[in-house]
Amino acid sequence: MKAGDKMSEKTTKKTTILALDLGGSKMLSALVDVSESADGGRSTKLRGVARRALTQDAGRDGVWAAILDATAETFGKTGESWDAVDSIGATIPGVADPKRGYWVYAPFSGIADFPLADELRAQFGKPVFADNDVNACAWADKVFGVCQDVDNFVWITISNGIGGGLVLDGKVYAGKFSGAAEIGHFNVVENGGALCGCGNRGCLEATAAGPGIARRYRELVKDVFDGIDAASSGLRADWLRYLESTNANANAGLALAQSATAASIADEARRGNPLAVEVYNATGRYVGRAASYAANLVNPEKIVIGGGVAGSFDLFYPALWETFERCLFKATNKALTVEKTGLGYEAGLMGAASLAFAPYC
Ligand SMILES: [Zn+2]
Repeated sequence: MKAGDKMSEKTTKKTTILALDLGGSKMLSALVDVSESADGGRSTKLRGVARRALTQDAGRDGVWAAILDATAETFGKTGESWDAVDSIGATIPGVADPKRGYWVYAPFSGIADFPLADELRAQFGKPVFADNDVNACAWADKVFGVCQDVDNFVWITISNGIGGGLVLDGKVYAGKFSGAAEIGHFNVVENGGALCGCGNRGCLEATAAGPGIARRYRELVKDVFDGIDAASSGLRADWLRYLESTNANANAGLALAQSATAASIADEARRGNPLAVEVYNATGRYVGRAASYAANLVNPEKIVIGGGVAGSFDLFYPALWETFERCLFKATNKALTVEKTGLGYEAGLMGAASLAFAPYC
């Protein structure tokens, strides 16, 4: 490399953001340094990540105490002071109003009408930007991740629930009441299906989020164990053979399934458990169908999958793509791809940072 090349790669600007990722069961705080090079490239670095658990009944006071506590730990770990911080970004778990930085409503905690941005601004004296966590993650892939050159995409998060974010013509599209892209509540099971938190049955969230994956696995193992389903009979011999290879029997397999989680089922699938493989294939088919509806509606350039279950992207992607392609209106969606997020494990913190780094409100 020539000396001149090295110079051009040098950082020309550094911005430091205090990122707060508020979730249903925990909150994270960190400093995010964004370095911009002369050629427009961006790189990010997370420092001083601090985590606090949040109980469902923590309420506004509990959330506020966790924010103060975690923020102090972030500064302690990094040795920085507020002088180093340019602005604050915060994600809100639930309905948000990004114009006011308001936490409008979260069904699981009951927290409502919380002027989060105003209170953070009053407490810390820095500019504050806040929005719903899924919109923030979608925006982060636009600002820092796999969609930097993409103006139209659908972002789907699959973890304990399923949410969606839309970036259209380079802007977050939230809908009239911040309810756009509720992909988790697309119906994917006709005539019944599991009861969803929204009150309907057969929603994608009830079927293909982490708890839905675990439930379908328990049900499949039970069906195969009982041998009552003709469709499962072919799987039974494969399953027994797999169990034998792990020195287990059908009773042990049935017992283990009771405590299985989406993550442990993914591990089983990687070890060759045919029922775990089938459950992830079915997950791909459900998500692929829902993603095709979203694509046929908005004609995006990309569909991006994030959330904890995206760690098993390789397990469900082939079935997802097969169903997605079959249901897609191909004439206008020829170059469309489905990809895993580029944000990594701390997507929520990157989401919070993106709100402050490239504000859209
Ligand atoms: Zn639902």
